[in-house]
Amino acid sequence: MGSNVKISVEHLGKKFESRDKTVTALDDINLNIEKGQFFVIVGPSGCGKSTLLRILAGLDEPTSGRFKITEPENGRPSNSMIFQGDSIFPWMTVWENAAYGLTMRNAPKTEIKNTVGHYLDKTGLTQFAGAYPHQLSGGMRQRVSIARAFANDPDVMFMDEPFSALDEQNKTLLHSELLRIWDETRKTVVFITHSVDEAVTLGDKIMIMTARPGKVKTLIDVPFERPRDVLELRHRPEYGEIVYDIWGHLKQEVQDSNANEIRKVAAATSAKG
Ligand code: ADP
Ligand code: MG
Repeated sequence: MGSNVKISVEHLGKKFESRDKTVTALDDINLNIEKGQFFVIVGPSGCGKSTLLRILAGLDEPTSGRFKITEPENGRPSNSMIFQGDSIFPWMTVWENAAYGLTMRNAPKTEIKNTVGHYLDKTGLTQFAGAYPHQLSGGMRQRVSIARAFANDPDVMFMDEPFSALDEQNKTLLHSELLRIWDETRKTVVFITHSVDEAVTLGDKIMIMTARPGKVKTLIDVPFERPRDVLELRHRPEYGEIVYDIWGHLKQEVQDSNANEIRKVAAATSAKG
């Protein structure tokens, strides 16, 4: 394993067993994610993206194979996770939410104040510090999730379709904000999306997965420099070429995934009838 590898995955598989059937969610996944890399996973719905992320985050276990995440230095928390829906606490203010990780590990008061202040500023939430999540728009709530995750100063950040519920304009804003914050620390990020544009805008490397059972179909390097200008990027011919290339890989997988769905519905219907 190279010294720059942060996460290595070898022959990893996951089967979900129930009384009458087995679903193979992941099959023989092999990959290396480098330290500081913004690694994006794209694949059709149901291909096992969330399952893979949950396993890497320690929330579930593989049924075969293994993975390794090199230990963080200086006892930092190993990871933070941001999900699609609201993952912030509704009974806490914006400030309390952002301070949560630091408070839980009894960080000194001044450190909490400075760090939380910094990330609320970076996410444009300073004047909402005392507000509760229900008083905020969806975009603002996802900013709280981002501020909280970064303030926690994790070793690795896992994001599972964090922006998929947002409208296009908020999504674009959050892309540039996320990249600006990430540029300060260059944490290792594993980011799931089903949006090809999002993948190319954010990622250093994109892994395309096959329809279920999820395997690695191909890996694509995104050559754009850092820091990136999210809007300027979209004008470049190379941007269009990469998006087109990814669609070429994805098209069959999305069709196969739809065929899986149709078979599933047909089986359920004939079982009833
Ligand atoms: P994705 O995130 O790519 O949409 P998931 O990882 O959520 O896909 O799911 C992959 C497959 O595994 C799906 O067919 C899903 O129904 C199945 N699955 C996920 N979690 C469970 C579970 N806890 N029990 C049974 N099947 C599951
Ligand atoms: Mg998912």
